[in-house]
Amino acid sequence: MIIAVDGPLAAGKGTIAKALARHYGLPHMDTGKLYRSVAYRLLALGKSPDDIVSATQIAHGLSLDGIEDHNLRTAQVGAAASVVAVHPSVRQALYDLQRGFALQPGGAVLDGRDIGTVVCPEADVKLFVSASSEERAGRRLQELLAQGEAISYADMLAQTLERDARDSGRVDAPLRPAEDAHLLDTTGLSIEAAVDKARLIVDHIRLAKS
Ligand code: C5P
Repeated sequence: MIIAVDGPLAAGKGTIAKALARHYGLPHMDTGKLYRSVAYRLLALGKSPDDIVSATQIAHGLSLDGIEDHNLRTAQVGAAASVVAVHPSVRQALYDLQRGFALQPGGAVLDGRDIGTVVCPEADVKLFVSASSEERAGRRLQELLAQGEAISYADMLAQTLERDARDSGRVDAPLRPAEDAHLLDTTGLSIEAAVDKARLIVDHIRLAKS
């Protein structure tokens, strides 16, 4: 079973995808990590996220076991990742890693922006997770403050709206729900309630297919 979980920043897709993977015994890939990893390496080399040639080279050199675990979830790396993700050559370079992961025997859960539309259009279950911009900015702010990053709510909201606009407005693989995606709005929901809703959707689809 392949489960695609897409949605904008801090909608809850990562948490939901991890919980689903645990529940159904499937491997999980956070595809945002790939884009963040390219951005992180680019910034570490002192290059601009707009440097398409370097970003594409880095993306081609990325392997699943070489992805950094630390320093990827900062506001700076997140913003640079969404700039890097606009380049079609970078997306193409990362496609095979994601596709190969999805097609492993038994299936997988992948979360990102274009899993249900581009990476796995044939996924058994597609969830599109959203929440209000204000709530998403608040959640991301808490995460960054806990990491020791100093940022105001107003700046976080502005960054959230900017990231949304860039991810939804790009020509290649824009952020949007697949036509057959199930929409899950997590505004006002606890993590447990959001995961329960996601599980109900997956179980319902599994039952209908069996
Ligand atoms: O999900 P996360 O916030 O870690 O993703 C960072 C950035 O990577 C996103 O803003 C988006 O631009 C890009 N991304 C993407 N396609 C994916 C996953 C992430 O374009 N499948």
